[in-house]
Amino acid sequence: MATATSSDLFNACHVVLLQHLSDAQLVEGESPRAPGHQHPAVGRSAEPAQHAHGLGGGPGGSAPLRKASPVLGGMPLGAPAGSTSSAAAAQDRAQKAALDMMMAAAGGAGGLTGKLGVGGANGPNGAGPSDKTPEQLSAAATLASLDDYSRVITPETAMTDEVEEVCALLVECLELRKHWLFKPMLSPEARRHEPEAAVPSDINPQPFAYVPLPPSGHTFRMVDGVMAVYGPEDRQQAVNMFPVPGTAAEFFTDMHRILRYASSGPVKSYCHHRLMLLEQKFNLHVMLNSDKEFRAQKAAPHRDFYNVRKVDTHIHHSACMHQKHLLRFIKSKLRKEPDEVVIFRDGKYLTLKEVFESLKLTGYDLNVDTLDMHADKNTFHRFDKFNLKYNPCGQSRLREIFIKQDNLIHGRFLAELTREVFSDLESSKYQHAEMRISVYGRKAMEWDILAAWVVGFQLHSDNNVWLIQIPRLYNVYKETGVIENFQQMLDNIFEPLFEVTADPSTHPQLHVLLSHVVGFDMVDDESKSERRPTKHSEPPQRWNTKHNCAYAYYAYYIYANLYALNKFRESRGLNTFSFRPHAGEAGDIDHLVASFMLCENIAHGINLRKSPCLQYLYYLAQIGLCMSPLSNNSLFLDYHRNPFPLFFARGLSVSLSTDDPVMIHLTKEPLVEEYSVAAQVFKMSSADLCEIARNGVLHSGFPHACKKHWVAAEYWRPGPDGNDIHKTNVPNLRLRFRHETYVDEMRLLLHGAVAYQTRKTARE
Ligand SMILES: [Zn+2]
Repeated sequence: MATATSSDLFNACHVVLLQHLSDAQLVEGESPRAPGHQHPAVGRSAEPAQHAHGLGGGPGGSAPLRKASPVLGGMPLGAPAGSTSSAAAAQDRAQKAALDMMMAAAGGAGGLTGKLGVGGANGPNGAGPSDKTPEQLSAAATLASLDDYSRVITPETAMTDEVEEVCALLVECLELRKHWLFKPMLSPEARRHEPEAAVPSDINPQPFAYVPLPPSGHTFRMVDGVMAVYGPEDRQQAVNMFPVPGTAAEFFTDMHRILRYASSGPVKSYCHHRLMLLEQKFNLHVMLNSDKEFRAQKAAPHRDFYNVRKVDTHIHHSACMHQKHLLRFIKSKLRKEPDEVVIFRDGKYLTLKEVFESLKLTGYDLNVDTLDMHADKNTFHRFDKFNLKYNPCGQSRLREIFIKQDNLIHGRFLAELTREVFSDLESSKYQHAEMRISVYGRKAMEWDILAAWVVGFQLHSDNNVWLIQIPRLYNVYKETGVIENFQQMLDNIFEPLFEVTADPSTHPQLHVLLSHVVGFDMVDDESKSERRPTKHSEPPQRWNTKHNCAYAYYAYYIYANLYALNKFRESRGLNTFSFRPHAGEAGDIDHLVASFMLCENIAHGINLRKSPCLQYLYYLAQIGLCMSPLSNNSLFLDYHRNPFPLFFARGLSVSLSTDDPVMIHLTKEPLVEEYSVAAQVFKMSSADLCEIARNGVLHSGFPHACKKHWVAAEYWRPGPDGNDIHKTNVPNLRLRFRHETYVDEMRLLLHGAVAYQTRKTARE
């Protein structure tokens, strides 16, 4: 199936590029495939300072930009003003169409639906002036004055038969992602006319109001671990209305195919080479343009690193407070509510005072050291010890009282603590969080307990959205006899969600909670050994061994049920959820392959450093990596070895996040601490930090209307069009560099893939 789609793509691109190439050859008189072929602009006296090996720059304005097309032998990226014959214009359009297809294949990382050209007839933004507000016009003027941008140009890659084949394989991988990934029905482009909103409550002033929705009459049942939904008229349950793109067996087959490509020698060499080149290009860009970037930042009034929006894209709710905050809270509760009955242990009810007496602790004894929740050198490579640290004073009963929501006091203490964290976030104004909260799948009641807690305590903040995290703990529940097989875990997690979507009145509080949930995460220790699943793996109803299922197995079944749920919710006019699991923190490379195919973005991804092919694919698809170098430093990877700065330089879409502030950070602004350490150790500039913050907002699940307000009116567009320096403090030069580099990579890939397909067709 995937082969059919990729050959369709090849055929479409093939026509476009053949047409294009023949023209290029006529003009330039040589084949762009010739090894060592150099850019035709090189050495032309008319074009200033385009040095032979691309280290050139100089005050070219937009003209050298148009010249720079290392792949296609001097064909301009955008149509040069006034120079296009109608035939050339048609070709240009056709090429854009081909590139659009490629961008879509890449999972839509801001498809090139807009104008592709940089420095075209309409100024550096490449957009017509007519649809601009005065504010945007003034931004464009500022940019124009700062337009003496030195572009890094590299010589062409020699296209050998081997390289062409590699390009074809990489395109096939991107096609697979496109095939599996869930995409919402309405793109940001389709929602462009929705008004901006400064904060979520501008859109919904009553976050806990229950808006009734009549029951839909749909029925549903699990078929081989994936929910099938049937229409109200379909009494026989004959036609599944929202089928998933493929079965588990098909998914595992595709996954193994990508794994095979990723381990092939030529693919590894090519990707490694491209990644090195991307890194060097960035270093040159910074060398040539950093002062201009800094000038642009200085020229943007009011905005600086402190007042650009920053989203903590990966933080666990139960560890979201810093340790001094938790300590202060415990002390104040012991002082103000000593007689509150808080726990049932060993056959009797205990008050808070009695609990502390049983632990031989007084309020005076308590300090951060007795609390002992900080990860230290003993936790390195010991996820089990790291988890044990998550007990205040080493006592599970204190954990149950203070940081659990399902306890004797119905999670009141944790709710109060959460509200304090929210108010800290709100007072910082520009810091936001996406807190993850657990649903385990041990019992179906969990959803209602969680919803009652969030809605009952009115836990909402304009600075927070919720994600649901599912711990991969089947083996633990099986061992304790809570569940019989993996299917029961899936039932407990997903049945209530389909029920409430079909008829919100069945779980009104859950219906309200889900309107604040933006995504699903999947968590646990990835370093545990596991057997890689294959197409012969048992289906969930027959998975009843004591062994845990593998990462990719969990990933598929959670993804597939979310896919059906999202389609169902879309049909009901309800919000959908993105799949954003932890992946590549440790463990095998297949975790990253599974998440490449199924997920919008991931947390961690540090293991991409071990696979050039996957790292390059994550770049091409612009999959967000919500990284936490300080957390890695406590668990899996020393800070100075963290690939974060490397990924950033190469243009992977990275953001910074805190993971577990209570166990890692020392200050009361953990997210800023994370930025601060990265800035110091990795020597990052203000432009770098603001670019990372901008990535964070784009990775996040905050509403479309807020992203418009925080990033740019058309934040989804690639390059400078999707940026407003007055909002993000990111220089347009930076985004222009990123975009041009990206287009060059895609163009090279497409060119190689089409050449390969042409050769193959000719042979047949
Ligand atoms: Zn985490």
